[in-house]
Amino acid sequence: MFDLKGKVAVVTGGNGGIGLGMAQGLAAAGARVVVAARNQSKSAAAVRQLEQLGAQALAVAVDVADEASVNALVRSTLDQCGRLDILVNNAGTNIRKVPQEYTLADWHHVLDTNLTSIFLACRAAYAPMKAAGGGKIINIGSMMSIFGVPFSPAYGPSKGGVVQLTKSLATAWARDNIQVNAVLPGWIDTELTRGARRQVEGLHDNVLRRTPAGRWGTIEDMAGVAVFLASAASDFVTGTAIPVDGGYSVLG
Ligand code: NDP
Repeated sequence: MFDLKGKVAVVTGGNGGIGLGMAQGLAAAGARVVVAARNQSKSAAAVRQLEQLGAQALAVAVDVADEASVNALVRSTLDQCGRLDILVNNAGTNIRKVPQEYTLADWHHVLDTNLTSIFLACRAAYAPMKAAGGGKIINIGSMMSIFGVPFSPAYGPSKGGVVQLTKSLATAWARDNIQVNAVLPGWIDTELTRGARRQVEGLHDNVLRRTPAGRWGTIEDMAGVAVFLASAASDFVTGTAIPVDGGYSVLG
């Protein structure tokens, strides 16, 4: 039910953090993984790690905020792997400032990287998935899809939008056997959140206090949900947003 042998998965931002954790899960379940990100030396290292799991993997350079680059990623995947079964839209960024100091360029950078990118990648993946008889799309939201924080006036709207875009695509493409779901990570130890801990005083301890599981998440914690949402086990699951957060989002 969870076997991904013969499947091809594109993971944006798959060269580090949550994307790499998910890529490792997909690779261990048998998928061939396309690591899609900008930094080519990081991507080459991620490909080596995935190959050590016995998987086939390759790197394709992409800027997810650029329409032509995203279209080229899908074309290149089809050329090199012959199919595209699983698309993980994970690449993301944040600019942490109070709203009154946010520039329009800051706003567009965060929205383009976190939300418009997903529209572009899903649109490009639709035709090959439909032609193959189905597909799996996994979009990465956040606790900020649900909650607000004072220092991320564009990140929250972008991640709220990820959940709504997921629902829109899920309903549009259900009859094409394309399942579209979102994952909402809690606080996971990555480069992104190491930056946040440097910028936001007290964040590290607040997360420990506020997370029922009493710890930060690891990238390995993200692998299982990726395999579930990429496999036949989730064929009747679409339009959902699944928190992977050690209970953070349900603590009253
Ligand atoms: P990282 O900073 O470790 O990873 C971000 C990834 O996105 C990198 O692989 C980066 O690769 C890639 N990326 C960024 N911008 C672009 C771009 N324009 N084009 C292509 N790739 C890009 O962060 P995380 O692993 O923490 O975050 C991954 C996702 O999870 C993000 O969407 C984030 O918002 C979300 N998230 C993270 C949480 C956490 O606690 N860590 C919590 C909730 C959500 P490169 O620089 O090589 O392009």
